[in-house]
Amino acid sequence: MIRRRASIATSVGGVRVGGGAPIVVQSMTNTDTADIDSTVTQVRALARAGSELVRITVNSDEAAAAVPHIRDRLDAAGVGVPLIGDFHFNGHKLLKAHPACGEALAKYRINPGNVGRGSKRDPQFAEMIEVACRNRKPIRIGVNWGSLDPELLTRMMDENNASAEPLSANEVMRAAVVESALQSAGRAEELGQPHDAIVLSAKVSGVQDLIAIYSALAARCDYPLHVGLTEAGMGSKGIVASTAGIGVLLQAGIGDTIRVSLTPEPNGDRTQEVIVAQEILQTMGLRSFVPMVIACPGCGRTTSTYFQKLAQDIQSHIRHRMPEWRKQYVGVEEMNVAVMGCVVNGPGESKHANIGISLPGTGERPVAPVYEDGEKTVTLKGDHIAEEFQQLVEAYVARRFNPR
Ligand code: SF4
Repeated sequence: MIRRRASIATSVGGVRVGGGAPIVVQSMTNTDTADIDSTVTQVRALARAGSELVRITVNSDEAAAAVPHIRDRLDAAGVGVPLIGDFHFNGHKLLKAHPACGEALAKYRINPGNVGRGSKRDPQFAEMIEVACRNRKPIRIGVNWGSLDPELLTRMMDENNASAEPLSANEVMRAAVVESALQSAGRAEELGQPHDAIVLSAKVSGVQDLIAIYSALAARCDYPLHVGLTEAGMGSKGIVASTAGIGVLLQAGIGDTIRVSLTPEPNGDRTQEVIVAQEILQTMGLRSFVPMVIACPGCGRTTSTYFQKLAQDIQSHIRHRMPEWRKQYVGVEEMNVAVMGCVVNGPGESKHANIGISLPGTGERPVAPVYEDGEKTVTLKGDHIAEEFQQLVEAYVARRFNPR
């Protein structure tokens, strides 16, 4: 059993983050926020996939002016997902010039390394905090390795060089990331931001750096922590790196909200980052989102692609049906479905699942026994095994899970 780190609870547009609340999945759009139609469409897709908070970039007057319209359009469509504004450099100006933007957002993400340079930094940071206080909005102090406050880093490097036992440059960088987050949060509180309206993140692109930095941060504060690797990368590399870093931290009880920052393929589906985040939490036993499909890896006994196709079809069918099932049935996300490639391990694994099927392996009789709650209920055969199994899954859900 994982013991979660004790953190203070923050409400982000009604979504509780920290304080032992379920770990929240969030994501970020990659549309031009000024393009209201595209942004609304993508936020809806992310929310439908299960993103509980969605961040949008607010980088220009046009984007800031669009934010309240985006909020209105989402509300009109019944999509209540809180929006988080991502601000850099000109955030203080945009929040001042577009008061409706600040009101429509549920949280402001402030990167202390990108608030302003030199003498401008403190007053510009203060202006943003002033708006957050006035609108009673939580903030995320989001430090990023790539935009670490250069003055803080230089000072810490100089101090390190002058010390009797200097640390490595990498260790100083890690310490500077932690300091930047904590000092900025402290400064925000001095300016009036409530202690329970601050979330921290300190994203880096290396897994070991991520683990070291968040472990240090977790030990030094009780703010809720937003965990994720930045610039995780594309495809399997991004998924593996994020899972490795986030998984180790979650296992140590660290993390109140997560984002998996995947670089999508050109024209790829942005919702993949939401699905991966959910799968990390679900496979670690921290939350359940959709029924799990347990599929064997296949081997020489499954020489056709039929088995892979059925596992994929069932997985897509479940994900597609889940928004409706979630509204209709209590606890359906806890369901396990087994799709196995032959009778070697198939029946055994099927018996442990809520519902499972063992397809005929190469050379086996062309029949597919189905088990429900540990008992064999039917044997499917013929050309329509996939469709018939989907119908059995539908009937099982309706029978097994109580209506809401
Ligand atoms: S269940 Fe059958 S097909 Fe699947 S990996 Fe095991 S032996 Fe191979």
